[in-house]
Amino acid sequence: MKKRDISQINEKIDNGEANIYTAEEFKKLIKEDNAPSFDEVDVVTTGTCGVMSGTAAILNFIVSPPGEFIKADKVYLNGVPAFAGPCPNEWLGEVDVILHGTTHSIDDVNYGGGFLLKEIMEGKSVDVRVESVDGKVIENTITRDDINRAQIIGSRMAFKNYTAFTNPGSEEVSSIFAATPLKGNLSGLTFSGCGDINPLQNDIPHNVINTGKRVLLNGAEAYILGDGTRSSPQKPNLMLSGDMTRMDPYYFGGFKTGQGGEIYNTIAIPIPVLTEEIYNNLLIQDIDVSIPVADIKGRHLPLGETNYYELWKDYDLRPKYDRQKCSSCSECEAELVCPTNAFSDKSLDLSRCFGCGMCSSFCSHDAFDMDTGSVDIKINEKEVNIPIICRQSDRLRANKLSLKLKKMIKSGEFKL
Ligand code: SF4
Ligand code: SF4
Repeated sequence: MKKRDISQINEKIDNGEANIYTAEEFKKLIKEDNAPSFDEVDVVTTGTCGVMSGTAAILNFIVSPPGEFIKADKVYLNGVPAFAGPCPNEWLGEVDVILHGTTHSIDDVNYGGGFLLKEIMEGKSVDVRVESVDGKVIENTITRDDINRAQIIGSRMAFKNYTAFTNPGSEEVSSIFAATPLKGNLSGLTFSGCGDINPLQNDIPHNVINTGKRVLLNGAEAYILGDGTRSSPQKPNLMLSGDMTRMDPYYFGGFKTGQGGEIYNTIAIPIPVLTEEIYNNLLIQDIDVSIPVADIKGRHLPLGETNYYELWKDYDLRPKYDRQKCSSCSECEAELVCPTNAFSDKSLDLSRCFGCGMCSSFCSHDAFDMDTGSVDIKINEKEVNIPIICRQSDRLRANKLSLKLKKMIKSGEFKL
């Protein structure tokens, strides 16, 4: 069996001779029957972007001069409750907090930790309210520059084996798997997962994706801390951590669901091709990655099965909005369902768009041009065709971060 070690790959990188592909590029060559051989590929950069509920931030910032209060009891940032501590910072006027990406504002269930953290990184002002153990209330405004330390910890990220959901019942069901209640009678399908570009999908035995490995999390260097919570050989995921102040807000943010605000992240992981086994694992394609389709209510009771080729094919990754076709409805459904607020005031901000497809599914006058496709699934011996109405993973962002990682490795900015 052929082998090479990491120092050989690093030497090729230093000499500008390394063959580095993004997973998107590599899979395209496989499809064209033109896959580079083991000798012709040194590194493949994989990626994924999606709603990752287990995301929290540890923040430290000053709210008052020292001596004004004993220690924080309750802390709110733009109305989003954060956990004070663990460090009590007694009499110091500063607070350590842990903020969950899935915690909702006390004023608005659709605004939560994910939206807040993105706003902090975009440099926006944030209202802070501290209720102290000695009964004082301190109110202040902070920006990114006032935050001394901000670290993201993801307790279950880069998940590999997802389930797609539909609603076979007659009544609509509200869930975290779509921004709006899922209507019944198999009228729509929602799914997550980036298929064959997902890091863990390309290294199922964890030959190289393991504890201590350096990765990119939302554009910044981060590290794998180990397995994520609820990780199992069948459904692996990772625990990661990185410095939030170095992250690019394009790659993370809030995502509205039927159960309120969630948070999405983007991850890219390099796979050095050290052995033929590692190489062979990279040959997996969307069509090989199956995904069960389950009842949104039962969650784990599959109704049928499909695969990521059927889910992604060459469907559109972003919508086009045609103002001429917009009928200026009194209540804009597209705006209401847009999970990232990318469509607002009849304007589409592509830098915030997640490519979920909800706007084109819900606009009542076809003002959006976006084909997100449909899948044929056998349910109870009957073939049914279900339109894909919501994608909770974003292949465009995942591919962009994989490309950024490839460039960073090539330039020597990111060492393997
Ligand atoms: S639902 Fe569609 S047609 Fe109606 S206001 Fe919104 S974008 Fe325009
Ligand atoms: S695809 Fe449409 S609904 Fe989804 S994030 Fe983009 S603008 Fe919003």
